[in-house]
Formats: sequence, C-alpha cells, structure tokens
Amino acid sequence: MRRHILHRTVSVFLLICLLLSFTACTKLRAKRLEFTPYYSEHIASAYEQTSPTLLMSEPVPKDFDKDASVLVPYFHYAVYKPSTGFAAVDQAAEAYINAQLDTTEAMYRQDAALNMDYTLDVLDNKLGQLYIYGFSCTLADQQPQGDMLRTALFYNAQDGTLFTMDDILKSETYANFCQMADDLLYSTAQIDISVTSITADAFAAAFQFHTEGLTLHFEAGTFGNEQSDAIDIGIDYETLAPYVAEPLYELLEETHLPLRGRKLDPTKPMIAFTFDDGPSKYTPRIAELLERYNGLGTFFVVGNRIDNFKDAFMRCVEGGHELANHTWEHKNLQTNSYETGYDQLTKTNKKIEELSGKKPALIRPVGGAVDDDVRRLSRDLKMPLINWNVDTLDWKTRDADAVYNECVRAAGNGSIVLFHDLYETTWQAVERLVPYYASKGYQFVTVSELLQYAEDATIVYGDVYYDQNSHR
Ligand SMILES: [Zn+2]
Repeated sequence: MRRHILHRTVSVFLLICLLLSFTACTKLRAKRLEFTPYYSEHIASAYEQTSPTLLMSEPVPKDFDKDASVLVPYFHYAVYKPSTGFAAVDQAAEAYINAQLDTTEAMYRQDAALNMDYTLDVLDNKLGQLYIYGFSCTLADQQPQGDMLRTALFYNAQDGTLFTMDDILKSETYANFCQMADDLLYSTAQIDISVTSITADAFAAAFQFHTEGLTLHFEAGTFGNEQSDAIDIGIDYETLAPYVAEPLYELLEETHLPLRGRKLDPTKPMIAFTFDDGPSKYTPRIAELLERYNGLGTFFVVGNRIDNFKDAFMRCVEGGHELANHTWEHKNLQTNSYETGYDQLTKTNKKIEELSGKKPALIRPVGGAVDDDVRRLSRDLKMPLINWNVDTLDWKTRDADAVYNECVRAAGNGSIVLFHDLYETTWQAVERLVPYYASKGYQFVTVSELLQYAEDATIVYGDVYYDQNSHR
C-alpha cells in the first residue's frame, strides 16, 4: 500500500515537471526574435578595389534543436568586410572585425546581434582613411545605440603602409595635442571631458583629414549620453604641423602641410649656392655656416666619395641640405655611353637614398657637358639637369679673393652659383660670401626650392637649368 502511494506521488510529480518544462520551453521560443541586419546595403566609395564581402551569421544556429527543452542562445551578425587592395590594411581591418565578433559573442551569451559597415576615403591619392563602425546589442533592441563600435585605419595610399597613431602624431608632443583638442572641445561644445578619457579606437575614428586640415568628428554619445549631437573640431594644417609625425608629414608635405623648418619669402631675393665633387672635410663647415643664416645649400656629390666622407655627408642630411647627383666616379656623361651614364647615376641615386632616406631630385652633369643622350638620361630618370649661371672658377684660381669677387660681381637674385667644396680657398670665400648676401636680404635656398619659386615651377626633364628662370 505504502509502495502504491509512493508510486502515484512520483508520477504526479513527474507530470508537473513535464508541464512546467513545456511552459518554460514555449515561453523561451516566443521570446526568440528575428534578426534584421541594420546595414542592409553597403554604399561603395570610389576608392574601393572590390565589392565588399557581407559576412552573415547562418540563419539558423547549427545546434538548434526544436525538441530541446532549453534553447541555446544565438549570436547573429551582419558585417561588411572592406577590401582596399593593400594586404596590411585589409588584414588589420579583418583583425578588428574578428575581435568585435569575439567580444560581442562573449559579452552577451544570449540572443545578440552585431552590425558593422565601413567607409573609405582617400585624400588626394595619398592618405587612405578607412572607418569601420557599427554596434552590438541584444536582439530585443536592434538599434544603433547599444555599444557603439568604431575605429579608423590610416595608410599611405601610394604604397599601402599602415600608419599607427605614432606615425600620425609625434609621441613627444601627443599630450600637448590632446590638451589643444580638450581646449577646443570646451570652447566649441562646453564639454569638460578630456579626449584621453575615450578609447584609442574611438579617438582614432574621430580623425578626418581633408584638404583644409584635420577635423575631429565626435559622434553623439562619444562623451556620454548627455552629448546628444555630434561635435566637429577643425584644426588647420598650419596649426597641426608641429604635432605631425614624420611618416604623415612626408606624405602630406607641400600639398597640405607647410614645408618644414623655415618659411621662404617669395618677395625677397633668393640664391642657390651649389657645391660639386664632394663630400670633403670642408663640407660640414659650409653646411653649418649656411644654417647659421637660416640657409640651405645643394651638394652635388660624387657617389664613390660618400663612404669615405660619410660624416660630412650625414651632416648635410641632418641639416636638411639638398643632396644631388654628380655621377658615381665623376664621369663625363657626354663622352661616355648612355648605359655607362645610366649606371653612374642610378648607383649614386641608390647610395644617396639609402643614407638620406630621400631620392635625389637633380643631376649636375660633369663639366656641364650635355648632349641628346644626356637629355634622354634626364628624361628617363625624371631628374632635371642643373648647370649654373655663375661659375666662380674656384677650382682654377684657388684664390679666395678671386672667388669672392667673381661671385659678388656676377651672382644675384635667382642665380645658381657653382663652387667645389674641395678647396680651403673655396671655404674662405664662402665664409665671406654668406654674410655678404645675408646682409643684402638674400635667402640661401636649395636648387629645388629655387625652382619651386620660378615663374613657371613645372620641371621639364631633359632641359638644362641655368638659373631660376632659364632652362632650355
Ligand atoms: Zn665636377
């Protein structure tokens, strides 16, 4: 009898359990929501190499079991994956997207969704700006608010090198830059929160470089819910220049960022002192003297001398002087074959670029000797031929007074003056000439600078340049 009652109690208990579990199951099923990708269509920009790939979660989870009493939580996503055609950039984008997939899945562990899209903008075919943005949320709240996700990837659009923030802003002035941004944030939107309080990803995503300067674009909510509108802070390139790190500076110099170091005044006279056949022990003295007067010179070096006078060469590089090509072995380009000339010039180019990081822009033909083949070399290498309009004959006279007098007599605004930095007498003359021209208001410029300020600044390869405005 006791046994019978026990049996019945157990049966009733089991029946209640079954009913309860069925109700729970129905409730769970009713709660499951459909996933709607928020970004239903990606709008392609002109810079995209291929159509974007849309990554979607499968419509039904693999382990979905209709009869199971407990439904597994399910994570949905719709992500547009960018393709820029540059491996480093595409890989970094993919890594960011994968990290968001992992984070969202780990964070919610329930019916949740992730939506991501991107925009790609390239400034003047130079600076690539890829913005990846989106949000993660629960399925019950499929609106772009939840957790906003955004980052930006910047890269050199000419070679695909990816930039980190250290390649964009100098680390040593980064704190000052943030202080400036904070001040602007306060004066623009009365927001008293530092930009350093937001994530590095969110801060990078605010950077938008355009033709006039940098805009820091902060989406609504970046600084908390009370920030209901987006905020734009404009910083022009002139103001930005002191904070910009080398890789970005190099990319945007001349077109956007001001030329570094000094400003030239086109209304004041300019003169280009050029030195052939070095480097030598006199070269650093000349470089230092010119710098003392805020000037720069052009050194047409002989390639095979560079290693023997490496310190002198590097002194010129550090001072920002122009290093240019005077062949590898001081070979006359006119009397030698095109092929020999080509070898002499490319070997020297390679050496200069290797040590200075900068491809030389100019050729000074040995002895100024030019024929059709030499002009062809100039065109093929895209380097103009630079002769002179004032020959100080320093190599011939070896007389400081004679060199000084000839220069003062013949050289004026726009002149290209020929010296050789091999002789003590040349150094003695230059030591007097630099203060002399400085006192007359002259600016000592490199040949490239002189030609940038020419009446017609377009460089004609194959032409021989004699001074700022004559070439043929
Ligand atoms: Zn020479």
